[in-house]
Amino acid sequence: MNSNQLYFDLLMLSFPWDIERVTWNMQEGHIDVFVSHRKSVKMACPECGDLVSIHDHTKERSWRHLDTCQLHTIVHASIPRVRCKCHGVLQVEVPWAGPHARFTMLFERFAIDVLKRCNQTKAAEILGLSFDEVHHIMQRAVSRGLLRRETIAATHIAVDEKAYKKGHSYFTVVSNLDEGIVLDLQDDRKQSSLDAYFESLTEEEKSSIEAVCMDMWEPFARSVSSQLKNPESKIVLDRFHIAKHMGEAVNEVRKHEHRYLLGQGDKTLTGSKYLWLHNEENIPDEKRAGFDIIRTLVNKTARAWAIKEMLRTLWSYRSKAWARKFFDRWYSWAIRSRLEPVKKVAKMIKNHLTGILNYFDHRLTSAGAEGINSRIQAVKVAARGFRTKEGFKTAIYFHLGGLDLYPAAS
Ligand SMILES: [Zn+2]
Repeated sequence: MNSNQLYFDLLMLSFPWDIERVTWNMQEGHIDVFVSHRKSVKMACPECGDLVSIHDHTKERSWRHLDTCQLHTIVHASIPRVRCKCHGVLQVEVPWAGPHARFTMLFERFAIDVLKRCNQTKAAEILGLSFDEVHHIMQRAVSRGLLRRETIAATHIAVDEKAYKKGHSYFTVVSNLDEGIVLDLQDDRKQSSLDAYFESLTEEEKSSIEAVCMDMWEPFARSVSSQLKNPESKIVLDRFHIAKHMGEAVNEVRKHEHRYLLGQGDKTLTGSKYLWLHNEENIPDEKRAGFDIIRTLVNKTARAWAIKEMLRTLWSYRSKAWARKFFDRWYSWAIRSRLEPVKKVAKMIKNHLTGILNYFDHRLTSAGAEGINSRIQAVKVAARGFRTKEGFKTAIYFHLGGLDLYPAAS
């Protein structure tokens, strides 16, 4: 097989395309592949597909291809322009690359596979591209994927907020809980942010939403109330967010008690912050004995932790009625705890009890909402933060949007 035939096959070309020549620049480390086409052929008008005559050619353009023989490989061609009776003079579609692409489709596919497995900095290094070039491939893949989507509605959705930088510049994340994919990202975390999502759906799609899993965040609740029918039966306050609020209360109590103990020269709580964030079953084996001892020494923190742990059993009830009875008992314990942060969260939970007990009608596991949240966090950590909010959003859609990212096969 000569090299023309080899590259004809590697680029997956077919008639009337042809390899004109291949030049090997061993010293500069690249291979140039010149593609042309048979003379006096007709080509398809990109608008209507009719076979029409070639009018002229563009200036030579080039596309980066997958390395061959471990050398940078560049495809060069002047693209034919056809003259169609209905559509005028237009550039034809070439089989090896999408319109306006600077890479061949095979290269873009490979780059997407690399990007799925590592962060943009690492991908740029592997692919021999700049950070911006890699980001551009990612953006193109995401816009392609978003265009191909048929719907962003789902039976069970989750709504959450995410900060682009710690503490400010939020955006709203809407996900499909059944498939564990991100459906929509909107700026801010206002009522209008979630309204924008609902307003992009048809009435039929809106009415297909049976449950919206969320945190106790009033702007989102107001949006659901104004956009969906029977909102009071659809809002599900999920245990993942409730657990987060309870965890914060335990941490407040610990900080307070730690300060008090330190004032008396007692360092029992020093370095224990992360232990108290564990759930009972997740305490590392080697720390369990120590934790059991600390619990007998620090009255307040241990009590707050026990109240938090007790609340978790709410979601293991089979019936809504029994769960409500359990909640009443838990609430009277929490409210009599004399621990202000715990009392505050307990009151907040009681005010939202309908939404919490809606869990028993929909049985949404918090694994969905929690899973998406931690995967978004993982995207952020892997990238060591993002330079722009748009960059962060692109990465979320790329990794978690469930999108068809690849360029169309020729
Ligand atoms: Zn045409």
